[in-house]
Amino acid sequence: MTANTEHPSLLDLPPLSAEHFAAVEDKIASLLRTRCDVVAMQGEALLPLEACIRSAAPRGSTALNVITGPYGETFGGWLRSCGAEVVTVTAPFSGAVAPEQIARALRENPEIGLVSLVHAEAATGNTNPVAEIGAVVREHGALLMLDAVASVGAEPLLTDAWGVDLCVIGGQKALAGPAGVSAVSVSARAWERIAANEQAPRRSYLSLLDWKERWLDGGRTALPHAPAQLEMLALEQAVDRVVAEGLDASIARHRAASAAVRAGARELPGLDPYVVRDQDAAPAATTLRAPAEGVDAREVVAAALKADARVPLQAAAGPLAAEVLRVNHYGQAAERTLVLDSVRALATGLHTLGVAGAESAQGRALDAADAAWGDTFAA
Ligand SMILES: *Cc1c(COP(=O)(O)O)cnc(C)c1O
Repeated sequence: MTANTEHPSLLDLPPLSAEHFAAVEDKIASLLRTRCDVVAMQGEALLPLEACIRSAAPRGSTALNVITGPYGETFGGWLRSCGAEVVTVTAPFSGAVAPEQIARALRENPEIGLVSLVHAEAATGNTNPVAEIGAVVREHGALLMLDAVASVGAEPLLTDAWGVDLCVIGGQKALAGPAGVSAVSVSARAWERIAANEQAPRRSYLSLLDWKERWLDGGRTALPHAPAQLEMLALEQAVDRVVAEGLDASIARHRAASAAVRAGARELPGLDPYVVRDQDAAPAATTLRAPAEGVDAREVVAAALKADARVPLQAAAGPLAAEVLRVNHYGQAAERTLVLDSVRALATGLHTLGVAGAESAQGRALDAADAAWGDTFAA
């Protein structure tokens, strides 16, 4: 991109008012189907996630941490550094946690006061049944913290109905918006427990209580510091776009994209959906297992991008990088033509890497993907 110094559209903007900031929070609350307080945190989503844990996990308390991917592992580290006892429930990254696993852990450890859970994991492409888990956690009386960064806009997220006390979202996944701001909803129960925690961050960038005292309790009339204006405006646009389309329509598109890529991949030699069951597949990103023999997932991604540089493919991060690749369905990328182009690029990539049968499978894969896309809307 060339520098545009003559008409720099991102500069010289009027300040973002407190009223405007509050209006963006209200739009987020509506998207999250919550009547609880929503705080727009001025940093990437790891900020509210860490803020929630440091606020709601007192030293000596017990927390249940559910690990179904890399973010759950991160939460466990924060919980321990708060001095909490951590009970861990894990599920294979290629599946979902069963509500019965959570119920059993709560029965065996009645002192659990906080449950941390990831809704969907973009990195591993799986999603958890939060409605059922929320009911189990509510019955036990623990707080439920949910990382909904990779689910918001792509699948149902009913914060209040599901009993989620702390619901964290970001703009950079299915909303296809900014990564530099995020938001968290906080239930009244959660505020009570956070206020009672002497260790909860105060006068800190990680403090939820600061936002409560300096912003919410004052009726949201004066911002405590200069907001991340550009990011807030972008987040507002992202939410407005989902509302204009209709949340249900946005969800259906993301579902269709996931179903189509999974169906197409099943027809391609060597590729298979990484998440085993369709119901556990996150609509925001589809992960695929690369051919076991001699072909690295990163090579498949590179070859497919060489065939078509526009398709939203990337290799998985971390330890899965050699085995798993990812097709992202973020925002406008959850679109029929682009999804079919992704399947086509994968077939071409496999063919150039010498995978037998890839060329002849392309037509079948595209037909299967297209049929799955259509079926999602017909259902
Ligand atoms: C993407 C994502 C985040 C945000 O983290 P980044 O590493 O900055 O992308 C948080 N939680 C989950 C579950 C995510 O998928």
